[in-house]
Amino acid sequence: MKVLVATKKGQGIRDNDFSFVPEGDLVRHGFDCDGEEVDGSCGCRRSLSGMRNLKGTTTFKVADLPLTVEAYQKELLASFRRGLQGLPKKEIDKAAKEVLDDGTLQHESERLLKIAARFPVGTVLERRGNFIQPRAVSRSAQPKRLAPKAPRAKATRSTKRRSPASQLRSLR
Ligand SMILES: [Zn+2]
Repeated sequence: MKVLVATKKGQGIRDNDFSFVPEGDLVRHGFDCDGEEVDGSCGCRRSLSGMRNLKGTTTFKVADLPLTVEAYQKELLASFRRGLQGLPKKEIDKAAKEVLDDGTLQHESERLLKIAARFPVGTVLERRGNFIQPRAVSRSAQPKRLAPKAPRAKATRSTKRRSPASQLRSLR
């Protein structure tokens, strides 16, 4: 089944990128701050959250994982519960029951799976507020393309032409 997972691929194409989710972890929508801009300082409107570590990533991709919808929803519910960590277990149980009963969980699951189903496996995606779209991963930004094929003569000068994103990447 096609799902959305975190990826470092495409990081650095936007200046305000970040990714604190391990490669391949399932992602979901976190909580958005009120009045936050897509490119605001918080970053919640341009990122999704790792289901396990609940941290943000501005890049994620479509992966085909051996998961059933049921197992996926279980992960989502576990993630929701994790987000409430610190509250008494009774309250977490009550809130978890609520999102199950009122269809919130089902809705979120469908929303995420629908997005994943729309793109080929491997497509790197980004979030811009309410929209999730393919990220234009330029060839120069692909890590494996960083090794120059041509002889290195004058390499430092000619590579000055690369996009700011790929230059950033090579600085790391
Ligand atoms: Zn925020």
